[in-house]
Amino acid sequence: MWQPFTEDHQQFRKTVRSFAEKELAPHAEEWEAEELFPNWVFKRAGELGILGAHFPEEHGGAGLDYWFSVAKAEELPHCRAGGVSMGLLVQSDMATPCISDLGTKDQIEEFLKPALAGDKIAALGVSEPAAGSDVAGIRTVARRDGDDYVLSGQKTFITNGTRASFVTLLAKTAPDKGAHGCSFFLVPTDLKGFGVAKKLKKIGNKSSDTAELFLDEVRVPRRYLLGEENQGFMYLMQNFQTERLIAAVGAVAGAFQVMEYTINYGKDRVAFGKPIIKREVWQHKFVDLYTKLEGAKAFNYKCVDHYNEERYVKKQPLSFETVKLISMAKILAGDVAHEVMDACLQFHGGWGYIEDYPIARAWRDQRLLRIGGGTTETMKYYLAKLMGF
Ligand SMILES: Cc1cc2nc3c(=O)[nH]c(=O)nc-3n(C[C@H](O)[C@H](O)[C@H](O)COP(=O)(O)OP(=O)(O)OC[C@H]3O[C@@H](n4cnc5c(N)ncnc54)[C@H](O)[C@@H]3O)c2cc1C
Repeated sequence: MWQPFTEDHQQFRKTVRSFAEKELAPHAEEWEAEELFPNWVFKRAGELGILGAHFPEEHGGAGLDYWFSVAKAEELPHCRAGGVSMGLLVQSDMATPCISDLGTKDQIEEFLKPALAGDKIAALGVSEPAAGSDVAGIRTVARRDGDDYVLSGQKTFITNGTRASFVTLLAKTAPDKGAHGCSFFLVPTDLKGFGVAKKLKKIGNKSSDTAELFLDEVRVPRRYLLGEENQGFMYLMQNFQTERLIAAVGAVAGAFQVMEYTINYGKDRVAFGKPIIKREVWQHKFVDLYTKLEGAKAFNYKCVDHYNEERYVKKQPLSFETVKLISMAKILAGDVAHEVMDACLQFHGGWGYIEDYPIARAWRDQRLLRIGGGTTETMKYYLAKLMGF
């Protein structure tokens, strides 16, 4: 039988599980209430090698394959706060992979290495108040002025945004050229003119911070341009696949965990003289859901296999076929995780609606998957184009 995980992957999995269960989960309630997990979590994850396992050694990583990142995303949900997983995944799989792909030696030293060590906090700044799904419609402008770019505009929904040390940020260098006029910059947040406009209050993933940012004539030295000018949209489309795939993997793993404790709950909860799990209607429901989850997991692994082969073995950009599969995986994972969480909440009855029960939080947190990193509808819009309809 095909088994992508070696002994080394399993050892790494144990490290992540222990970090999530012993060092993070005990604080989940407190961080949810405070609407922020502390910065030491990034540092500790860096020390344990959790952030950089799948990055090249010369970039501050461990030079391992992508299955290590999968193991990480599958174990992090044991921290029982989606916001913590999300903040860490933004750091390791969303705001930094493109620095590894495109960064100069100096950019890798200044931004990537400290981010993988957990010394700097990274955010990905793409979405804006007037442009989320339609990324080419962003309005943040980067104007050339001598050896600098001068950036002005707004970003919103930015995870890690209130405390990021730098933002991997998309701006228009040629505003009249649409998708062909976007460029990526590494923007230190202590530059003059950069600020946090507000921290957004969310219905889920509360322990992560989500910010609205402003850039008022921020002078960004030319050396912080990431890759080539006006190629940012193309880079982002590659980067999005990493984000979507890891989100799909984490969502399916999280749903499996919720099913497990929900079924255990049903062994103890008695109604009409029997544990509720003994009702055939629920048994069949959970069998159906396990079947769907196994299907989604297998499909995710197929995508990971393609992704790993193309990015890590052949070291080439992702093919259209892989982009297509990953978009499908995100749709599937989002739908299945939603169905699972909703059924599990229902199975808890009124207790599912009460904050003290982890299912309430899991139900709220998973809702983001069909929105963040590209909505389900946007995935379908791009898929229809890719498939030539
Ligand atoms: C908690 C949270 C964290 C986030 N973190 C980040 C982050 O770190 N960095 C970042 O850059 N962004 C982040 N985002 C933003 C996220 O990626 C966007 O919210 C998402 O891409 C959708 O954009 P939008 O909210 O502007 O919705 P809109 O684009 O306004 O879409 C509104 C509705 O229209 C639908 N729609 C749009 N286009 C089509 C179409 N062609 N066909 C059919 N329907 C369509 C959408 O599916 C949606 O239902 C985050 C969002 C949230 C909520």
